[in-house]
Amino acid sequence: MDGGWRLRSLSPKSLMKTDALAPGQTIGILGGGQLGRMLAMSAARLGLRTHVFEPGAVPPAGEVAGVTTTADYCDREALAAFAGSVDVVTYEFENVPAEALDLIEARVPIRPNRRALAVSQDRLREKRFLNGIGLATAPFHPVDSASPNAASILKQAMEAVGLPAILKTRRLGYDGKGQVRIEDTDCSADFLASMAGAEAILEGFVDFEREVSVIAARSVDGRIACFEPGENVHRDGILRTTRVPAQVGPGTRERAFEIAAAILNALDYCGVIGVELFDTADGLVVNEFAPRVHNSGHWTEAGAIIDQFEQHVRAVAGWPLADPIRHSDVEMNNLVGEDVADVPAIAREDGVRLHLYGKSETRAGRKMGHVTRVLGPATSP
Ligand code: ATP
Ligand code: MG
Repeated sequence: MDGGWRLRSLSPKSLMKTDALAPGQTIGILGGGQLGRMLAMSAARLGLRTHVFEPGAVPPAGEVAGVTTTADYCDREALAAFAGSVDVVTYEFENVPAEALDLIEARVPIRPNRRALAVSQDRLREKRFLNGIGLATAPFHPVDSASPNAASILKQAMEAVGLPAILKTRRLGYDGKGQVRIEDTDCSADFLASMAGAEAILEGFVDFEREVSVIAARSVDGRIACFEPGENVHRDGILRTTRVPAQVGPGTRERAFEIAAAILNALDYCGVIGVELFDTADGLVVNEFAPRVHNSGHWTEAGAIIDQFEQHVRAVAGWPLADPIRHSDVEMNNLVGEDVADVPAIAREDGVRLHLYGKSETRAGRKMGHVTRVLGPATSP
């Protein structure tokens, strides 16, 4: 068996003294999508209860959580009742308003912490943070698309980062939304218009050989465990496939673990993180990180003895992390939109773990489920 990165303690900082949750206690989850659903399932397996808070009707997580509150993130009464009914709060949705988090945090701990969330919510702040701890990112330049001088700011940014480049909104992007690729300086006005006045960032295009990601976790007492890096393929900005192990050399693999650990320690983080990396001829460059369980970690359900969802639940509940030993080589494919039509055929395959999110409406680009195929016993990358 080929283990992930074994548990080890890396310069743990001053850590909160907290008692671990006991079975029967409750984890609050902000956001009721598929990630919340899978977290709730893992919590239940460990005897922990979950309470999901989600503004949208009929959330996928609502079917498996013990309690669901359907209310807006601005509903102070509902938030107070939610916070009063749980022992710790975590999230699968990153754009919860700061006021809601203030109200919750006054009553109960939020894990991962507020700083991790604030840094990852803003691409500009995130890149500055990463560079500040010595990690390489794409070259970048802020672009205030609402400024009367937006055109000259964009021109300046293009000179600074070079072309091709990608103009992205600083906040609220996912699955490649809020992004445009810029090949030449001619049509910059159109690109600015597409940002609709949002604060943006221009990123130089990174010439990568492959995209990899590391799913890592840090416990309340500062221990770190990393799953084997996976190799990711995106189509139309959406993750389609994760293959494990990633085809990288031992130096790159170790560097990927070091990068994840550096981010976790710098943020005094508790929980699972997904770190997206570009593997380039000059080494690993950080694309971004997500302060939560991550789509590129879904393979862990079928390829490792513990999955990312249980690891996150353990971390936020103050339990010890598990050693994320990988037993199989795997390939995870997202079932996006009409891909769900393949489900009957997939269900007949051997060596396959199928996971559907219970979404009743199929829409183009909507993640409906995923399938992980076991390719064989774990081999070294
Ligand atoms: P997701 O929700 O899938 O993480 P996102 O909307 O946060 O997506 P990014 O991760 O920034 O968006 O970009 C999506 C994909 O676009 C990346 O995985 C990569 O394939 C490509 N991409 C983004 N930025 C760059 C860049 N600077 N250079 C090269 N490719 C990039
Ligand atoms: Mg991304």
